[in-house]
Amino acid sequence: MALIVQKYGGTSMGTPERIRNVARRVARWKSQGHQMVVVVSAMSGETNRLLSLAKEVSPAPAPRELDVMVSTGEQVTIALLAMALQDIGVSARSYTGSQVRILTDNIHTKARILDIQDTNIRRDLDAGTVVIVAGFQGVDEQGNITTLGRGGSDTSGVALAAALLADECQIYTDVDGVYTTDPRIVPEARKLERITFEEMLEMASLGSKVLQIRSVEFAGKYKVKLRVLSSFEEEGKETSGTLITFEEDRKMEQPIISGIAFNRDEAKLTVLGVPDRPGIAYQILGPIAEASIDVDMIIQNVGHDGTTDFSFTVARSEMERARKILEDQVKPHVGARQIVADNKTCKVSAVGVGMRSHPGVASQMFRTLAEEGINIQMISTSEIKISVVVDEKYLELAVRVLHKAFDLDQAPAQV
Ligand code: ADP
Ligand code: ASP
Ligand code: MG
Repeated sequence: MALIVQKYGGTSMGTPERIRNVARRVARWKSQGHQMVVVVSAMSGETNRLLSLAKEVSPAPAPRELDVMVSTGEQVTIALLAMALQDIGVSARSYTGSQVRILTDNIHTKARILDIQDTNIRRDLDAGTVVIVAGFQGVDEQGNITTLGRGGSDTSGVALAAALLADECQIYTDVDGVYTTDPRIVPEARKLERITFEEMLEMASLGSKVLQIRSVEFAGKYKVKLRVLSSFEEEGKETSGTLITFEEDRKMEQPIISGIAFNRDEAKLTVLGVPDRPGIAYQILGPIAEASIDVDMIIQNVGHDGTTDFSFTVARSEMERARKILEDQVKPHVGARQIVADNKTCKVSAVGVGMRSHPGVASQMFRTLAEEGINIQMISTSEIKISVVVDEKYLELAVRVLHKAFDLDQAPAQV
């Protein structure tokens, strides 16, 4: 008997028929003798629908109220799944984040999980009941409902698996695993049987939303056995999805690049003509950090005539706020010439642990983009990734040509 945590995403919970399907799958696992905890997302489209409803009422809704509202999506699906299971004779009980007591900090709309109380869950599991938990939500010390950021149900699933010391955490979605890139953009993308935790962390942080980054961080920290699978495969024809591994597989020749990730949610701000002197980066980015705006890529040009240009990227939703801070606080303070904001940029990245031992990946990437006439606006590298910022109109082209240039459409050689 194993303790399994399964998480079903929005598409998997998208219609009553699909919810009944999920119930049948959970029932099958249960009948094999496993203890089952199931984490669910809201029905697909529901979170977006609620958020746009809020915008119709107020252009800047309070984050606390957004959380109260948006958490209702998952409250509906937990109850529906419990009903569907009970209907086929399986004992099941639903819990909101607050009823479990998934304790988070109080940063509304992007809260972090601090602790999970497992008393209710353990009691139900011991009684042979399937426990259904609302993903994406928690509660702070004061009893306020919080949410974990878009895609946060993955994190609820992995965090529960970690807290319960589950044998495996299975993330069921609308693709049958992690691919070399988003199969919706590149149909030739290949499913990976396994991907290292480090690579998955990079892929997720660079925009592959198949797993929310925090879920991968949790899996790494608590060594949760994590698998991505499809909820759409028929009974008896299921594949084993993609396993996130903690060791590099020595039997296979490690491909140099394992995947191409991309992120459309990138806006670039440039401060033109700032004095080229120590402390300037701090004076520009200090006020941005104080406003809790996350900065992604940063570039400072070589100075000329005593001045330089300084660019950085933020999420598009934060661009206007960042621009205002630069205009009102930074520009007069440091004596910059002009602030330029561009929300038509995106980031494309190549990820692979094999890069460590293979020089020349960057030059191959830059050559491939140059051959297509794609201008690179910013570059950043780490041991296992290279990212470039390009005009968003080149996004799909860049992903496709890089996928091909690194032979990701070909199966890796066996040795
Ligand atoms: P869910 O609602 O189940 O959480 P998501 O839409 O959040 O599903 O994530 C699944 C989607 O992630 C897929 O439909 C796919 O388009 C996208 N995706 C992006 N990058 C990848 C990748 N490398 N491998 C697989 N899917 C990816
Ligand atoms: N329903 C939430 C969202 O759409 C959480 C999730 O699906 O993981 O972002
Ligand atoms: Mg998701």
